[in-house]
Amino acid sequence: MRIGVAGLVLACTGLPAAGAELSPIEPGLDYHSFANVDQFRVTHVELDLRVDLESKVIGGTVGLELKRLDPRATQLVLDTKDLMINDVSQKATDVLGATAKNQTIWVSRPFHLEKPDPILGSALVIDLPPTRKTVEAIRIDYETVPTAAALQWLTPKQTAGRHKAFLYTQSEPIGARTWIPLQDTPQVRATYKARIHTDSDVVAVMSAENDPTHKRNGEYAFVMPQAIPSYLIALAVGDLKFKETGPRTGVYAEAPVVKAAAKEFADTESMIAASEKLFGPYRWTRYDILVLPPSFPVGGMENPRLSFITPTVIAGDKSLVSVIAHELAHSWSGNLVTNATWRDLWLNEAFTVYLESRITAVVYGEQRAAMERVLGLQSLRKDLARLPPKDQVLAIDLRDRDPDLVFSDVPYQKGRLFLGYLEAKFGRDHFDAFLRGYFDHFAFKSITTEQFNQYLTENLLDRFPGIVTHQQVLAWVNGPGLPADAVLPVSSAFSRVDDARAAWLAGTLQVKNFDRDWVTQQWLHFLDNMPAALSAAQLGDLDQAFGFTHSRNAQIERSWLELVIRNNYRPGFARLEEYLTNIGRRLLIEPLYTDLMKTPSGAEFAKRAYGKARPGYHPETVAAIDAIVNPTAAEGSE
Ligand SMILES: [Zn+2]
Repeated sequence: MRIGVAGLVLACTGLPAAGAELSPIEPGLDYHSFANVDQFRVTHVELDLRVDLESKVIGGTVGLELKRLDPRATQLVLDTKDLMINDVSQKATDVLGATAKNQTIWVSRPFHLEKPDPILGSALVIDLPPTRKTVEAIRIDYETVPTAAALQWLTPKQTAGRHKAFLYTQSEPIGARTWIPLQDTPQVRATYKARIHTDSDVVAVMSAENDPTHKRNGEYAFVMPQAIPSYLIALAVGDLKFKETGPRTGVYAEAPVVKAAAKEFADTESMIAASEKLFGPYRWTRYDILVLPPSFPVGGMENPRLSFITPTVIAGDKSLVSVIAHELAHSWSGNLVTNATWRDLWLNEAFTVYLESRITAVVYGEQRAAMERVLGLQSLRKDLARLPPKDQVLAIDLRDRDPDLVFSDVPYQKGRLFLGYLEAKFGRDHFDAFLRGYFDHFAFKSITTEQFNQYLTENLLDRFPGIVTHQQVLAWVNGPGLPADAVLPVSSAFSRVDDARAAWLAGTLQVKNFDRDWVTQQWLHFLDNMPAALSAAQLGDLDQAFGFTHSRNAQIERSWLELVIRNNYRPGFARLEEYLTNIGRRLLIEPLYTDLMKTPSGAEFAKRAYGKARPGYHPETVAAIDAIVNPTAAEGSE
């Protein structure tokens, strides 16, 4: 997932710390799942679901094929959250040991839901008799609730087309259990098939093989032949059009957006070509992009074969498409080699940010890649300044916490710096060979930090001894802050910007004499590094010259609105309210709400704007903004 150049960290919503911090972490144990994966493993998921856009409910059945690892096990434990379970049955052959000819008989099994945990949901416990059989199949008849955390149901008015309702899922990290009962842990990988039944005038797409020529008839079938973790199962339903952008690439979006999106993301095929040259073959056949309505809570989500992307990266000049490079890079780091638990998230994100930068350098030049690395470091420094030391480590202890509310730039940007450090120490040739070997060795596997460390020791540290010690690696992975010998990015293109800003602040350079050839990253650097206080005259001067209040670029706009809030620049507040009510991408709006809450008048404005905006946000965004704007209510609602 891409949170972007200024990832945010939210305080934990007041959950009890229990005594868990005292006991040592058990690597590979998923503290965010109830599933008894040592006894059973789901290997295939078969969905048959009706998506009711009117009543905001998904209902139907999921079939789970299971590998039994323990013949004596008598219970299968699955993850669910806010699901209504109607019936659980087992394939009759598994019960009776005989098959009725050409007919599958399902026999009901006893089951119950455990008391819900506010973060993890309810364990679904199914009685299964002990057997020597190694493969079993069960089927669960269930329904979601309209408030399911991974689902956002949009009314027609909340879409770009304004005529038809829209549904999309966002399951990472632990949201899949709010719309499918399964083993919701990234260490279990399964193939899937799905039949989706919905209104005849909308299109359904999934993180699977999609057929853009399929006639709109309300009946859609999908196959995902590669084994993926549960958080990558994804679905969207809406009034979607398709436009091809290359032999393996295309864009799905609502009609008013599809043309601009296809133009913005026209370089996707070149990005795949660049990635394959660096990291080995693209193993997922096609790479399509689904552009979502503006409420989509993240920049992008790397759902395999079909990345889900925020429309806020469509700036008209391809200047924000590093998000596409990021989601594409996840086809290697994350989707191919996956973190085994959310503590190991940095294995997904560090490699992805590193790969993103390499892809950007090939397709858009090293200068742009360097600027983005510097912006990433600036954003990381902000996070490090406010995070407690225990949350500044790569392999983070998330026990008793919602992993979604602890996401920060540490696994992303500190992780990238770690890989950049290894590249600098061992040389690019050796490091590239190591990377390719890593992706081949662990392809379609989910791994822990400890497995990575061992592989790194055997294939890089010990192969080229005397360059980096095991202790230096551990300082990166388990230590807070940045090691003193970190190799920090620099950008000469930013020196010009720093000079211009300093001269303007000193009154020796007028806005009309600024260079007019700055790119987005330079404007972001210009705005993000302003002094704490600016006068209304200074802000008016900038706005008049560069039109920040009406920028087409959502990222530049965010940086500008931060200045508007910090300096209580009243002419900018109408646009601020519009921005907060139109966009639900957390990276863009969380810093604005956080800044607003620092003053009484800002807090009053934030509460009013949020009151208007809240019904249009994704449940995940609502949880995050509740915690900022109204911390007490957020605790109560849990
Ligand atoms: Zn990511």
